[in-house]
Amino acid sequence: MNSNNIVDMFLEIAAKIESEKEYVTELDSVLGDGDHWVNINKGYQKIVSMEDKLRTLALNELFRTVGMSLMSTVGGSSGVLYGDAFITASKTLVGVDDIDLPKGAEVLKAALDAMMKRGKAKPGDKTMIDPLYQVVTAYEEALEAGAPKEEVAKIISDTAKKGMNDTKDMVAQKGRATYRQDKGVGYIDAGAATMYYQLDIIGKHIA
Ligand code: ADP
Ligand code: MG
Ligand code: MG
Repeated sequence: MNSNNIVDMFLEIAAKIESEKEYVTELDSVLGDGDHWVNINKGYQKIVSMEDKLRTLALNELFRTVGMSLMSTVGGSSGVLYGDAFITASKTLVGVDDIDLPKGAEVLKAALDAMMKRGKAKPGDKTMIDPLYQVVTAYEEALEAGAPKEEVAKIISDTAKKGMNDTKDMVAQKGRATYRQDKGVGYIDAGAATMYYQLDIIGKHIA
């Protein structure tokens, strides 16, 4: 994928996020303060507003620009976590003009590591980390096994969905859901849901 392909992918993600306002807001209203959709939607709308400029940038500059913009425009935990993820991922893209299958895994791993370091959350803590962690692990395994593109795409989409659904039974260890007496058990984490939407589309574009 080159810069144009990545921007097209971001536009598709932005449209998906925009269409899930009610559900995502409901999820963050149960476990958090109800603003997760506003935060993540603001971030993707910012990306949409930069479309023309982003298309002219090399991949590493594109990711860095997106990360810096998210840091400054998006509030809440998401702004910092996604901002850092994009900026860290940009460092794997210096001199790269095509994100192929192995590079895609490297980019997602860099984003995961940045989020885990910044938020100090581990897999199983009931956060946006969960679908991403599961996808990175399954993606790396699929590459090692020599799985063809179409199969990798399906593994990414299926695993992202599982990672999101798995947060339902988890006991929150990070974020506002920890303030609840039930620690959110029985509810999907809002950040995990929007992570799933993104990874599902990323999987489809990578193949
Ligand atoms: P805020 O919680 O500040 O209102 P958002 O509502 O935008 O920010 O984001 C909430 C989401 O952020 C949660 O659903 C969870 O997935 C994620 N999250 C919260 N804290 C952390 C953390 N320390 N590490 C990783 N993800 C986190
Ligand atoms: Mg919130
Ligand atoms: Mg908030």
